[in-house]
Amino acid sequence: LPTEHLQIIEAHELLAKFYNHLLVNTNEGAQALEYLFKRGFTKESIQKFQVGYSLPEWDFSMKFLEKRGFSHDLMEKAGLLGVREKDGTYFDRFRNRLMFPLKDSKGKIIAFSARALTKDDQPKYLNTPETVLFNKSSLLYNFYEARSQIRKQGFALLFEGFADVISADSAGVKNGVAVMGTALTENHVKQLKRLADSVMLCFDSDAAGEGAAYRAGMLLVSHGISVSAAILPEGLDPDDYIRNYGSEKFRADVIGNPLTWTAFQLLHYRRGKNLRNEGEKLEYIEKAMITISELENAVERDLYIRQLSEEFSLSLDALLEQQQQVNITRKNNQPPLLKHQDIQPTAPKPA
Ligand code: ATP
Ligand code: MN
Ligand code: MN
Ligand code: MN
Repeated sequence: LPTEHLQIIEAHELLAKFYNHLLVNTNEGAQALEYLFKRGFTKESIQKFQVGYSLPEWDFSMKFLEKRGFSHDLMEKAGLLGVREKDGTYFDRFRNRLMFPLKDSKGKIIAFSARALTKDDQPKYLNTPETVLFNKSSLLYNFYEARSQIRKQGFALLFEGFADVISADSAGVKNGVAVMGTALTENHVKQLKRLADSVMLCFDSDAAGEGAAYRAGMLLVSHGISVSAAILPEGLDPDDYIRNYGSEKFRADVIGNPLTWTAFQLLHYRRGKNLRNEGEKLEYIEKAMITISELENAVERDLYIRQLSEEFSLSLDALLEQQQQVNITRKNNQPPLLKHQDIQPTAPKPA
């Protein structure tokens, strides 16, 4: 690694230790610690994830690193400082926040996500900006620690927020990772695919979370990964659920009882639809039939078609007929086979 990269890592490792010390051992950190305990963090989870606290001062981290020989230029490149437009002076980016270290795939701290302690302090989460080491759309929180468990269990659990990862870990679920407030990307998928061919989604149970889960699932499936989706009561995220219902129920009822990808898609198509309205009902059935027709396994197709037929009191014959129509439409929409002229060698251009 270039010296600059090593220095950025070193600065983060030193700061993470110091933020953790401020949180756990000092009066300045007492309120932040109280907040974490109220949320269900334990001493163990705070240490394991090296959670810390940054002081409400404009130059504290800067001074701390200065004393240890780091230049302002390096601190700025590391994303730790901001620059004042009017006079080009530097200031600490992270102030009066809970500090969550972010590690690269080798377990080195390269960035922070900093959570506000009150609702008035916006944004709720402030991340390190893009740097030479930190790219938020390729980092998976907890990837380094979860790696061996993902291999062992044969699947990764994908959460929407890293607080969910930490809660799940305390609840004994160790194969969890989270994206950093972005959509799931091809880069994330490649990293996961090296470890397992299966992913369970466990996103927040609200419209945004469900939409994000749907898009993540679609991307994963397109890369040949098999997907399932754990479902939570409306309005809760995994962290809330564990706090309200406990670890055992989370493992048994949520992680232990996920929907198949098809069942999740059908659930998603129903959201916001009034199925007592004929038009919306037909729309739903049509969408459902398209998804079901795409299933490769005939037994599975049969299962979901029967479910639809029972739920809406439709004859199986009618549904099977519609399925055939869906198949015909799909065939007609497929790109035509290469035509002869496409494979003719092109004539050399006249000089
Ligand atoms: P908490 O329980 O502390 O409120 P959460 O994990 O439930 O946090 P969500 O609002 O569900 O937070 O957001 C999920 C993820 O999206 C967070 O972990 C964070 O990475 C990212 N995120 C949320 N809000 C912001 C924000 N204002 N700026 C940047 N990233 C954000
Ligand atoms: Mn959310
Ligand atoms: Mn959430
Ligand atoms: Mn939450």
